[in-house]
Amino acid sequence: MLSKMRVAPGSKPGIADRDARDDLGLGEKHKAHAHLETLKVKLEVLQQRLYSEGRCSVLLVLQGLDASGKDGLIRTVFEGLNPQGCKVASFKAPTSTELGHDYLWRVHAALPSRGEIGIFNRSHYEDVVAVRMLELAPEKVWKRRPGHIVAWEQMLVDEGTTIIKVFLNVSKEEQRLRLQERIDDLEKRWKFRRSDLDVRARFDDFIAAYEDVIAETSTDHAPWYVVPADRNWVKATAVAELLVDALERIDPQLPEPEEGIEGLVVA
Ligand code: AMP
Ligand code: MG
Repeated sequence: MLSKMRVAPGSKPGIADRDARDDLGLGEKHKAHAHLETLKVKLEVLQQRLYSEGRCSVLLVLQGLDASGKDGLIRTVFEGLNPQGCKVASFKAPTSTELGHDYLWRVHAALPSRGEIGIFNRSHYEDVVAVRMLELAPEKVWKRRPGHIVAWEQMLVDEGTTIIKVFLNVSKEEQRLRLQERIDDLEKRWKFRRSDLDVRARFDDFIAAYEDVIAETSTDHAPWYVVPADRNWVKATAVAELLVDALERIDPQLPEPEEGIEGLVVA
């Protein structure tokens, strides 16, 4: 399941040719639900160990077009985990203070500490894709960024962070339904911006821009995974699977207790 989603270094992800409704072999929804619950129990134990050990961190980078389900995914996968060991950062268009620095400044400050799982809801990849598509800087500026990013992510990995990068691949039709729902449902309307429609009008161009940046930045040390995103239970299960896999490879251990505690009786 994981290898199917993984983008091999140096290869194109082929986003447009992937099926956004793929069930990744999970079968029926109710079976996948049971599987997801099992993964979440594993995650809870592994996260507790990661936190208590305080040696390594995990960074989950989430990218995807509007309504690809980034927020819902975070809710589903991380509910039940210890909030003290999680750190979520959502990246919007940079403020004037942020623009007064290099583009990785705010990103670096939002990284998880040792022992934490960090979740980036959008990320430094906006500094390539959004900047390119919205023409916020000249081509020579965004063109050199994938090179910086590969080196910066290598440094983070060397220093103890496991990086998982996920592109949530929503189809154009499913995006239409979800955006329409945002307009029609008063509880969801706050999420909708008219400018979402301008971006949607360039859906294929945005995918092409992601295609380029993912091909340039999927590395052995920080691989990209293209996750089918039309069905919420598929993407939640896929991401939970990625996290469990990463944490099992880290294999965090409970710290050694102080000596002489065994058998102590509290008076
Ligand atoms: P949302 O995730 O719907 O709250 O929207 C956040 C918006 O901020 C999206 O339109 C992003 O493209 C935009 N954004 C995030 N980071 C950047 C960035 N570094 N440069 C330009 N736009 C950005
Ligand atoms: Mg939005």
